[in-house]
Amino acid sequence: MALLEIENLNVTFNTRHGKVTALDSVSMHVNAGETLGVVGESGCGKSITALSVMGLIPMPPGRIAGGEIRLNGENLVTASDARMRQLRGAEVAMIFQEPMTSLNPVFTVGDQIAEAIMLHQNVSADRAFKDAVALLDRVGIPSPDSRARNYPHQLSGGMRQRVMIAMAVSCRPKVLIADEPTTALDVTVQAQIFDLLNEIQRDFGAAIIMITHDMGAISEMADRVAVMYAGRVIEEARADDVLDTPQHPYARGLISCIPALGKDDTELREIPGVVPPLHMLGAGCAFADRCDYAQERCRREKPALVNHGHHPAACHAVEEGRI
Ligand code: SF4
Repeated sequence: MALLEIENLNVTFNTRHGKVTALDSVSMHVNAGETLGVVGESGCGKSITALSVMGLIPMPPGRIAGGEIRLNGENLVTASDARMRQLRGAEVAMIFQEPMTSLNPVFTVGDQIAEAIMLHQNVSADRAFKDAVALLDRVGIPSPDSRARNYPHQLSGGMRQRVMIAMAVSCRPKVLIADEPTTALDVTVQAQIFDLLNEIQRDFGAAIIMITHDMGAISEMADRVAVMYAGRVIEEARADDVLDTPQHPYARGLISCIPALGKDDTELREIPGVVPPLHMLGAGCAFADRCDYAQERCRREKPALVNHGHHPAACHAVEEGRI
């Protein structure tokens, strides 16, 4: 049994354009000790998937309209608010994209980590603070004793992200969700944070769900990948398989955006066009307006996520052998 299993998850939001479907039959799973990469541009449903797992979808306007999220077999969709408060932090924790908005500016980082520890463990404030210092040391913060007494603004961006990681792993969660954890950081610090996450995973045996728009991050971190587009999973396989033989034109496009290794290639590339707004989705494939392989069938019939030879991909051109 997978540690965390999302099955046919449907999430809707009431908006000024009416009800929109933010997640459409999303399924994915992650095993203990494994890293699942969830990749796609912004607006593809990655963060909504993460927030659904954390029980943090604002309801209303959001609603989980169907499906299950099972953690060790327990369905989180039907769990009470009190149960979700117990699980959040202790069993499933999240590292957010921008630590400055997640850390409280008026408390020292040591106090904030200590508070996270005391929320789930029956320990004294003194013990929790000592554990916080040990965690800062574990995540590679130099002079952790004095850094624990710093406020967030006194730390660099990389150090703040390390603090967030220390806080997230303070209760040794089984599942760690990292939502674009390195977006705001420069390339060298990014690599250090990836190394740290890999080490933490080895130490704690946690499953990691790594949310990113960057296939380069997937190649660094992930064992398996779910590629998302407009609220659906459109390709899913082992990371090597997706990187070596991407099937869906969108996955191919994301991979072509990875800067060539070892070359002086700093130009940022992106797939032409944008993800359609959710209220504009039609009956067919949501990628059709950006796809070189689109045909009439694509505009009227939504492709199912099916293995057409290599690994599952939701694309008529793959099914018809046109790519
Ligand atoms: Fe392109 Fe059609 Fe495949 Fe969608 S289903 S990705 S439009 S070929």
